[in-house]
Amino acid sequence: METKAKLKILIDLEKQNRLNAEGCLACGHKFNLGDEVVLARGKWQGFKFIHEGEAIFDQGSDVYYERKYYQTTKGV
Ligand SMILES: [Zn+2]
Repeated sequence: METKAKLKILIDLEKQNRLNAEGCLACGHKFNLGDEVVLARGKWQGFKFIHEGEAIFDQGSDVYYERKYYQTTKGV
């Protein structure tokens, strides 16, 4: 629960500027101010910020995954 909260942030101006170089790798859109994003694993290397709605929290490994990636790899 604690980890889960730590991985979630709100997009502010600083983060918007920093993260929109890449944008959201899950949906391909840019981030907007006030968006809830989480640090997640996916088809990319390491952890990236994506919209919370596109992520799923895995209790077992205590990390967020991109929903599509999770469904593919975990077979759910
Ligand atoms: Zn997105």
